[in-house]
Amino acid sequence: MDFYENGRRVIDQLGQYLTESRNKEKPVIHQRPIEEIQTSLDLDRYIENGGLTGPDLDVFVKKYLSYSTRLHHPGYLAHQVGIPHPTGALASLIDGFTNNAMAIYEMGPSAAAVEFFIINYLLQKIGWAPMPLKIEDRLTVSHGGGVLTHGGSLANLTALLAARNHLDPRIRESGNSDDLVILAPASSHYIISKAAGIIGIGEKNVIALDTDPLGRIRPDRLDAVYEAIKKQNKRIIALVANGGATGTGLYDAIDDIGTFCNERDIWFHVDGAHGACALFSSRMRKYLDGIQKADSIVLDAHKMLRTPLLCAALLVKNAEPLDFVFEPKASYLFHEKQQPGFDFIQQTIECTKAGLGLKFYFTLAALGEKGIETYLDRENDLTLKAYKYIKSQEDFCCPYYPESNILCFRIKGPDTLQLAIRDQLIQEGRFYISSTLLNTSRYLRIVCISPETGIDDIKDLITAIKRIKAGIPKRN
Ligand SMILES: *Cc1c(COP(=O)(O)O)cnc(C)c1O
Repeated sequence: MDFYENGRRVIDQLGQYLTESRNKEKPVIHQRPIEEIQTSLDLDRYIENGGLTGPDLDVFVKKYLSYSTRLHHPGYLAHQVGIPHPTGALASLIDGFTNNAMAIYEMGPSAAAVEFFIINYLLQKIGWAPMPLKIEDRLTVSHGGGVLTHGGSLANLTALLAARNHLDPRIRESGNSDDLVILAPASSHYIISKAAGIIGIGEKNVIALDTDPLGRIRPDRLDAVYEAIKKQNKRIIALVANGGATGTGLYDAIDDIGTFCNERDIWFHVDGAHGACALFSSRMRKYLDGIQKADSIVLDAHKMLRTPLLCAALLVKNAEPLDFVFEPKASYLFHEKQQPGFDFIQQTIECTKAGLGLKFYFTLAALGEKGIETYLDRENDLTLKAYKYIKSQEDFCCPYYPESNILCFRIKGPDTLQLAIRDQLIQEGRFYISSTLLNTSRYLRIVCISPETGIDDIKDLITAIKRIKAGIPKRN
């Protein structure tokens, strides 16, 4: 049967891709012009009559993989996208094959059960009460809630919607008034202002909180902002903090900010898309001290938790605002059908929703909590080693002591030099790094996320950067 044979062919190709990537036999990044890739893949060929099977499939997959960006390569240091655990990737296959659109229970009881389990597991890790398994108890027992979404962007958007509709339940039907603001540092992910635009608050009504030079919220300045906003008779939908910032990986002072918000009854949202993974590390957990003071948290499993794209969790301390975010009544209870489970559909923007939980569950279940912790601590260690090494190099500087796995640095020279170095590195294909603006200066930025990367790779990277600055071409 085609399925078995083709499946074996694809798995073989992926296995080879993994080995070549790990062994640095192929470039980490291989960006060819779009026309060239389309021609090479011969995309037109199968459209009319089909026939992509057997040896043809082999040829196609091989070419496809040859132009793919190799996250399993030790030189992959660019973005916060997880290096998927192979077992997690098998869950993607099961999810794709079964196609259970599990947002309604009857379309995917297994997937819904796994999602429910994952949400409760994460709620308990934060210290919040899990959702009761007996759905009728949801109205009487106070508990947390949550949903998995296709990415942290949707999760943040949903959190802000829940906060807005909680602040004023009339808005969902009648639309926004013009007195609404969101408080967030300028270092927050751009989805926060984008979300403000989407939900009609307006990007200019995201009030930038005072920060230190590294973009961290200054808790001592919160009161002044708050008083100023109250004087203008504005209403605060939420205060957003970074639990770690995308650019730097640095954490806001969650505990102090949480106390401030709790005392004033302000919805406290922690965007932990990248950094809430610290829940899994006893060493890094300190950066999330006070996290239980939040009202909502976003965590991306597809960043530091080795889960294939996409799996983000939105978690709320009290389920109610999320239960009612899109619905005036608890419609998960009022069915015209008999059902022994729970529909997530009232909690999401999405209608058809994949069984995202399985990818995260398979990854967790393959590595175990201990394995996840070992991985997180390893990446944190590597980042600290890289920091010490780079800081000790002449002409290099690192603007801060890293808290997670993100490190920014500069080599002496103008911003244009930093950008030119990154371009050249990508061209050469041995290292793939990113860059970021910090305090209006351009920095090179590495994300230690690949379990394949070691300190020797970082040392080689620095050697390559010095060589590029000196104008010496790469020797093969
Ligand atoms: C990555 C990230 C996001 C966006 O999440 P996606 O999963 O890419 O949609 C939001 N906030 C922070 C802090 C992030 O690091």
